[in-house]
Amino acid sequence: MNVLMIAPPGAGKGTQGVVIAAHFDIPHIATGDLLRDHVARGTDLGRQVRDYLDRGELVPDEVVLTMVREALEATDRRGYVIDGIPRTMDQARALYDIGVEMGSTADVALHLEVDDEELVRRLLARSSKEGRSDDTEGVIRRRLALYYEVTHPILEWYGERGILVSIDAMRPADQVGRQILTALEVVRQMVDGDPEHPRRPIDLTGLGRAFGRTD
Ligand code: ADP
Repeated sequence: MNVLMIAPPGAGKGTQGVVIAAHFDIPHIATGDLLRDHVARGTDLGRQVRDYLDRGELVPDEVVLTMVREALEATDRRGYVIDGIPRTMDQARALYDIGVEMGSTADVALHLEVDDEELVRRLLARSSKEGRSDDTEGVIRRRLALYYEVTHPILEWYGERGILVSIDAMRPADQVGRQILTALEVVRQMVDGDPEHPRRPIDLTGLGRAFGRTD
């Protein structure tokens, strides 16, 4: 199962990416995490991208594409969930070419829908906990504007290819996770129409607790 996640900042790509990866036992490749890790480790790449991240601007395509290609090459090719790329039409096309080359184009483009007010609220709440340098109000507004300008339009392209799945992600994280896995299990049955791969039950026992709920 090859999944791309496309959603505005704060919609829950990271959180749900982990849930999808665990359920399908596939690697989670998050471009933002990989870039922040380079910055934290002070690598050459980290020094190159630091300013872009702090300003909420997109880092150059060749940097992210090389990074993602390497991450994909390091997997065992049984699937992936990628979050953070594509962010532009050019990246979408480039990622498709990489997928064709590696025999692993996306099976589903998963779009998480959340309204702007809620996105800003979530990002500001996160900033007080995680202290990400780009979670200040001004930079959040810039990231959101950029999302609508260059990222949101590519959803139509995935829609035309027939692989777009949109999920209402306004609700609590565990409910959103449940809905995503239900939708992806349906896709998986179509993708792996192979009796050797029987449908996995959607076991979400404890997911609410994993997200901090006590009921
Ligand atoms: P968010 O979706 O909340 O903005 P991410 O962790 O996905 O957070 O990305 C953080 C930052 O990393 C972006 O603002 C951008 O600077 C950089 N980045 C991540 N993915 C890409 C990409 N595909 N192309 C260009 N820049 C990227």
